[in-house]
Amino acid sequence: MPIINRIADYHTELTEIRQQIHANPELLFDVFETAELIVEKLKEYGVDQIVTGIGRTGVVAVIKGDMVGEDAKVIGLRADMDALPITEASKLDYVSKNIGKMHACGHDGHSSMLLGAAKYLAETRNFCGEVVCIFQPAEEGGGGGKEMVDDGMMERFNIDEVYGMHTYPDEKLGTFAIRKGAVLASADFFTIDIVGLGSHAAKSHTSIDPIIIGADIVQTLQSITSRSVDPMAALVISVTQFNAGTADNVIAQTASLSGTVRSLSPKVRDLAQKRITEIVNGVVGLHGGKVELEYRRNYPVMSNHADQVDVAADIADLIVGEENVERDVAASMGAEDFAFMLNKRPDAMIFISQGPGPELHHPEFNFNDEIIPIGVSFWVKLAETRLNELATSNKF
Ligand SMILES: [Zn+2]
Ligand SMILES: [Zn+2]
Repeated sequence: MPIINRIADYHTELTEIRQQIHANPELLFDVFETAELIVEKLKEYGVDQIVTGIGRTGVVAVIKGDMVGEDAKVIGLRADMDALPITEASKLDYVSKNIGKMHACGHDGHSSMLLGAAKYLAETRNFCGEVVCIFQPAEEGGGGGKEMVDDGMMERFNIDEVYGMHTYPDEKLGTFAIRKGAVLASADFFTIDIVGLGSHAAKSHTSIDPIIIGADIVQTLQSITSRSVDPMAALVISVTQFNAGTADNVIAQTASLSGTVRSLSPKVRDLAQKRITEIVNGVVGLHGGKVELEYRRNYPVMSNHADQVDVAADIADLIVGEENVERDVAASMGAEDFAFMLNKRPDAMIFISQGPGPELHHPEFNFNDEIIPIGVSFWVKLAETRLNELATSNKF
């Protein structure tokens, strides 16, 4: 089954919404205008309930099906609304009006596709149970998904399963990719503040050089990946900032390092944190000086549930043909805060290719409006099929 005809009719309207969101990007939880536009559209589409302010600026819409079934369930469909602190480098008619902010991760498209699904589902209501459309803020590092979960979203709307969809640039437009188990990494961050003893650069023997200590830490941290972790497990430790010193002839008093840790399993994540702590303290013990390590656990591993992967992949087969659905796509060390929702309920995230082009987070990235009808068709078919199946089979 290809694109649903009725949804093809929405293409122009949804493209306009997408480009309007693209032109007015907002960061993290400050997605006020975007949320307002979404609420306005949801009202127009006649959904049953709209709740704002979940996870600070998140929006949730409920649509009830007209079909009657035994023990009907509730499915959540999730999109994100926030942009990135990047200056857009494109010459689009609808280029970002907010300098230094841009939709470089396709969240403008995700929100528009979910609005399209809400419109169709509210119009047709050809399903048992309820669809909950989740528009979350602060995916890009702010943990908006966590805030919505902490606000009791899953319990409040009785959500049984949640699905996510993310666009990515790839050769063939309109293909889908998914995998069971860990698909995106945990993402933690660390800051290491070193206090040594500054001196005249010519009298280096009187110093405790924080740059020497910092360099030793950077080097030794790399031994965690190569010597502490099973080579078949994935781990990335990257020191991404190293700041110290103010002059050529002065040995600095302090240095500061920071970076990120990515892994695909909670066990490796724990091990990495433990070894980083040991190495930082050990190296400073060797050289002298003082150190403070701040380790911040951010997004957990995003691990798709097997049954829900089958559900999503089967629907994708229906929309674009099974030859266009990759069911065992390679995991990536990128991260997604959909992981917080996934840790609460059975769920899965699927990737939809928007054709070749600049990478996600690139200043020339742009969501491809051509995939809107495919994404919307996927959402509505998933909701209808899964809800009707659950209501009759009572698998829970
Ligand atoms: Zn992103
Ligand atoms: Zn994203």
